[in-house]
Amino acid sequence: MPSNESQTAAREPAPTVGFVSLGCPKALVDSERIITQLRAEGYAVAPSYESADIVIVNTCGFIDSAVDESLDAIGEALRENGRVIVTGCLGARPEQILARHPTVLGVTGPHAYEDVLNAVHAHLPPQHDPFFDLLPPQGIRLTPRHYAYLKISEGCNNKCSFCIIPSMRGRLASRTIDEVLREAERLANAGVRELLVISQDTSAYGVDLKYRAADWRGKTYQTRFLDLARGLGELGIWVRLHYVYPYPHVDDVIELMADGRVLPYLDIPFQHGSPTVLKRMRRPGLTENTLARIHAWRAQCPELTIRSTFIVGFPGETESEFQELLDWLDEAQLDRVGCFQYSPVAGATANQLANHVAPAVQQERYERFMERAARISAARLQARIGGSERVLVDSIEGDVAIARSRSDAPEIDGVVRIANGAKLPVGAFAEVRITDADDYDLYATTVRAID
Ligand code: SF4
Repeated sequence: MPSNESQTAAREPAPTVGFVSLGCPKALVDSERIITQLRAEGYAVAPSYESADIVIVNTCGFIDSAVDESLDAIGEALRENGRVIVTGCLGARPEQILARHPTVLGVTGPHAYEDVLNAVHAHLPPQHDPFFDLLPPQGIRLTPRHYAYLKISEGCNNKCSFCIIPSMRGRLASRTIDEVLREAERLANAGVRELLVISQDTSAYGVDLKYRAADWRGKTYQTRFLDLARGLGELGIWVRLHYVYPYPHVDDVIELMADGRVLPYLDIPFQHGSPTVLKRMRRPGLTENTLARIHAWRAQCPELTIRSTFIVGFPGETESEFQELLDWLDEAQLDRVGCFQYSPVAGATANQLANHVAPAVQQERYERFMERAARISAARLQARIGGSERVLVDSIEGDVAIARSRSDAPEIDGVVRIANGAKLPVGAFAEVRITDADDYDLYATTVRAID
């Protein structure tokens, strides 16, 4: 067999694809899938516009500012490269893209891997070389090597009035449990220390497949939320659950958290605390006793971190409904909170609701809400000073290691700054002692590196 160098000299350079990925972690997972497939077919991924034969822009179209950002990114790719294929959420509205950028080579919609690949094949045929087809079995990831997003389903069966994702991405379509667990296992075997489970509605996982059963590692699992958590808990790595709705069956997973099988972390987008606003939002999974359930979860698993997002200034929100939200937050004592001021999304039914809230009032409520949330977060972090905790090291900045605790999802939550952590290996766990806290971050010193 000839050496690799002589093979390289003999063959044509690989066709190169540049990739611009916008939007949420779910879009990032789509990008990873597309890149994995392209690499499998012999394409190389170009690090810059100039070195790319063609550029794919994976767009977001969730809110109007994301639409603008996506249209700008397409414009930049056209200016810098000229050969552009558009995919992702905004691809569901090709007329909007073509009106502004009529020279794009193709537009494909969200979750349409085949269509994107066909568009690439049509404009940049693949090179057939078996040596380029070698691909790590875990695929190509855009996230750092030590954590990875695990997408378990596409689409959503809910009809929240402010959201157009179901009309863009379709109804819930779950991946079977064995497929998801095999992918998770491959990622763990490849060195991933933390899996972030994502979907539009993680707690509805498997409903569309009628909870179809399948075998993995000699045991039978159903395609459902609890079995997913049980299976992932077998891998011995961090498992973080995102986009969970407070359906009653979520209670069952708290036991796995208390036992240390999955991280004691729930990302539940509550969106509001007033029942009347929630009704106008048409939110799923709402029960009268959400607060009672939060208290019960914490009694069973005191380490539980609850993260959430909220919308203030939703159409018709009165001062007293907003006050209900603040009172709800005080009682729920959520650890991690993000907040958006309501902004209309083209095509959402909430646009037709009466009494839109003036921007100045939205801003004032946003500030009051964030001040309250920061106070709660600070108090909860203060309570952790003096304790020792396991963290996962993400990066080193000078003498400081930037790590995350059980309470911190990448990008969206706080971090743990380890003062003497420069020698800690990135991507490994460490035990640290918490020495200080501010509103969102913890400060620590190293106790020991772990593995
Ligand atoms: S649960 Fe609601 S907000 Fe989330 S994707 Fe479905 S419709 Fe949109």
